[in-house]
Amino acid sequence: MNRQSRFSQFLESRNLRSTAGRRVMLQEISALGERHFSAEDLVARFRRRGRAVSRATVYRTLEHLLAGGLVRRLSLGHKHSLYESNLGRRHHEHLICLRCGEVTEFGSGTLERLLDGVCRRRRFVAQRLSIQLFGMCARCAEEGRAKRN
Ligand SMILES: [Zn+2]
Ligand SMILES: [Zn+2]
Repeated sequence: MNRQSRFSQFLESRNLRSTAGRRVMLQEISALGERHFSAEDLVARFRRRGRAVSRATVYRTLEHLLAGGLVRRLSLGHKHSLYESNLGRRHHEHLICLRCGEVTEFGSGTLERLLDGVCRRRRFVAQRLSIQLFGMCARCAEEGRAKRN
Protein backbone atom coordinates (compact mmCIF):
# COMPACT_ATOMS: atom_id res chain seq x y z
CA MET A 1 0.00 0.00 0.00
CA ASN A 2 1.37 3.44 -0.80
CA ARG A 3 1.78 6.27 1.68
CA GLN A 4 -1.24 8.21 0.48
CA SER A 5 -3.67 5.32 0.92
CA ARG A 6 -2.12 4.32 4.24
CA PHE A 7 -2.69 7.88 5.36
CA SER A 8 -6.29 8.08 4.08
CA GLN A 9 -7.09 4.80 5.76
CA PHE A 10 -5.50 6.01 8.94
CA LEU A 11 -7.50 9.27 8.94
CA GLU A 12 -10.72 7.30 8.36
CA SER A 13 -9.96 4.95 11.21
CA ARG A 14 -9.70 7.98 13.50
CA ASN A 15 -12.75 9.70 12.09
CA LEU A 16 -10.61 12.52 10.75
CA ARG A 17 -11.42 14.23 7.50
CA SER A 18 -8.83 14.10 4.75
CA THR A 19 -8.42 17.87 4.57
CA ALA A 20 -6.28 19.68 2.02
CA GLY A 21 -3.84 20.70 4.77
CA ARG A 22 -3.40 17.12 5.91
CA ARG A 23 -2.91 15.85 2.35
CA VAL A 24 -0.33 18.54 1.59
CA MET A 25 1.48 17.58 4.80
CA LEU A 26 1.76 13.98 3.73
CA GLN A 27 2.99 14.92 0.26
CA GLU A 28 5.63 17.11 1.84
CA ILE A 29 6.77 14.39 4.23
CA SER A 30 6.95 11.92 1.33
CA ALA A 31 9.03 14.43 -0.65
CA LEU A 32 11.49 14.63 2.25
CA GLY A 33 12.21 10.93 1.76
CA GLU A 34 14.61 9.67 4.39
CA ARG A 35 15.54 13.08 5.73
CA HIS A 36 14.98 14.14 9.33
CA PHE A 37 12.96 17.30 9.81
CA SER A 38 11.45 19.40 12.58
CA ALA A 39 7.89 20.70 12.72
CA GLU A 40 9.30 24.18 12.12
CA ASP A 41 11.11 22.95 8.99
CA LEU A 42 7.73 21.95 7.60
CA VAL A 43 6.17 25.27 8.57
CA ALA A 44 9.05 27.09 6.80
CA ARG A 45 8.74 24.93 3.66
CA PHE A 46 5.03 25.70 3.40
CA ARG A 47 5.67 29.43 3.95
CA ARG A 48 8.32 29.54 1.25
CA ARG A 49 6.00 27.98 -1.27
CA GLY A 50 3.00 30.00 -0.23
CA ARG A 51 0.96 26.99 0.89
CA ALA A 52 -1.65 27.85 3.43
CA VAL A 53 -0.96 25.21 6.04
CA SER A 54 -1.10 26.64 9.52
CA ARG A 55 1.44 25.89 12.22
CA ALA A 56 -1.38 24.35 14.30
CA THR A 57 -2.24 21.94 11.46
CA VAL A 58 1.41 20.94 11.12
CA TYR A 59 1.78 20.16 14.83
CA ARG A 60 -1.57 18.39 15.15
CA THR A 61 -1.12 16.31 12.02
CA LEU A 62 2.35 15.24 13.15
CA GLU A 63 0.82 13.98 16.40
CA HIS A 64 -1.73 11.94 14.41
CA LEU A 65 0.95 10.51 12.12
CA LEU A 66 3.07 9.65 15.13
CA ALA A 67 0.19 7.89 16.89
CA GLY A 68 -0.49 5.92 13.71
CA GLY A 69 3.15 4.92 13.33
CA LEU A 70 3.52 6.73 10.00
CA VAL A 71 6.30 8.94 11.32
CA ARG A 72 8.92 8.42 13.98
CA ARG A 73 10.07 11.08 16.42
CA LEU A 74 13.56 11.70 17.76
CA SER A 75 13.49 13.70 20.96
CA LEU A 76 16.51 15.94 21.19
CA GLY A 77 15.73 17.44 24.61
CA HIS A 78 14.42 20.90 25.48
CA LYS A 79 11.21 20.02 23.65
CA HIS A 80 13.14 19.96 20.39
CA SER A 81 12.19 17.03 18.17
CA LEU A 82 12.94 15.75 14.71
CA TYR A 83 10.64 13.55 12.69
CA GLU A 84 11.13 11.12 9.84
CA SER A 85 8.83 9.10 7.68
CA ASN A 86 8.49 5.57 8.98
CA LEU A 87 7.00 3.92 5.93
CA GLY A 88 9.10 1.36 4.12
CA ARG A 89 12.05 2.01 6.39
CA ARG A 90 14.15 -0.53 8.16
CA HIS A 91 14.63 0.00 11.86
CA HIS A 92 17.69 2.12 12.57
CA GLU A 93 19.28 4.21 15.31
CA HIS A 94 20.76 7.70 15.27
CA LEU A 95 24.00 9.57 15.93
CA ILE A 96 23.28 13.25 16.56
CA CYS A 97 25.93 15.97 16.38
CA LEU A 98 25.41 18.55 19.13
CA ARG A 99 27.48 21.11 17.25
CA CYS A 100 26.15 21.14 13.67
CA GLY A 101 22.96 19.12 14.19
CA GLU A 102 23.88 16.45 11.65
CA VAL A 103 21.88 13.24 12.10
CA THR A 104 23.46 9.98 10.91
CA GLU A 105 21.71 6.64 10.87
CA PHE A 106 23.09 3.25 11.75
CA GLY A 107 21.71 -0.22 12.19
CA SER A 108 23.16 -3.12 14.08
CA GLY A 109 21.89 -6.68 14.19
CA THR A 110 24.27 -7.37 17.07
CA LEU A 111 22.73 -4.56 19.09
CA GLU A 112 19.18 -5.74 18.34
CA ARG A 113 20.01 -9.30 19.35
CA LEU A 114 21.59 -8.04 22.56
CA LEU A 115 18.49 -6.04 23.47
CA ASP A 116 16.20 -8.95 22.55
CA GLY A 117 18.18 -11.04 25.01
CA VAL A 118 17.77 -8.42 27.75
CA CYS A 119 14.00 -8.35 27.20
CA ARG A 120 13.70 -12.13 27.12
CA ARG A 121 15.57 -12.53 30.39
CA ARG A 122 13.39 -9.91 32.08
CA ARG A 123 10.22 -10.97 30.30
CA PHE A 124 9.87 -7.41 29.18
CA VAL A 125 7.69 -6.81 26.14
CA ALA A 126 9.32 -4.00 24.22
CA GLN A 127 7.13 -1.87 21.98
CA ARG A 128 9.55 0.74 20.79
CA LEU A 129 13.29 0.94 20.47
CA SER A 130 15.13 4.16 20.03
CA ILE A 131 18.82 4.71 20.59
CA GLN A 132 20.32 8.13 20.12
CA LEU A 133 23.96 8.90 20.68
CA PHE A 134 24.73 12.58 21.18
CA GLY A 135 28.17 13.96 20.50
CA MET A 136 30.26 15.34 17.68
CA CYS A 137 30.38 14.20 14.08
CA ALA A 138 33.79 13.50 12.54
CA ARG A 139 33.92 16.91 10.85
CA CYS A 140 33.10 18.87 14.02
CA ALA A 141 35.50 16.81 16.13
CA GLU A 142 38.21 17.52 13.56
CA GLU A 143 37.47 21.26 13.60
CA GLY A 144 37.53 21.27 17.40
CA ARG A 145 40.95 19.61 17.39
CA ALA A 146 42.27 22.06 14.80
CA LYS A 147 41.17 25.03 16.93
CA ARG A 148 42.83 23.72 20.06
CA ASN A 149 46.17 23.26 18.29
ZN1 LIG B 1 28.83 18.11 13.46
ZN1 LIG C 1 16.44 8.12 10.84
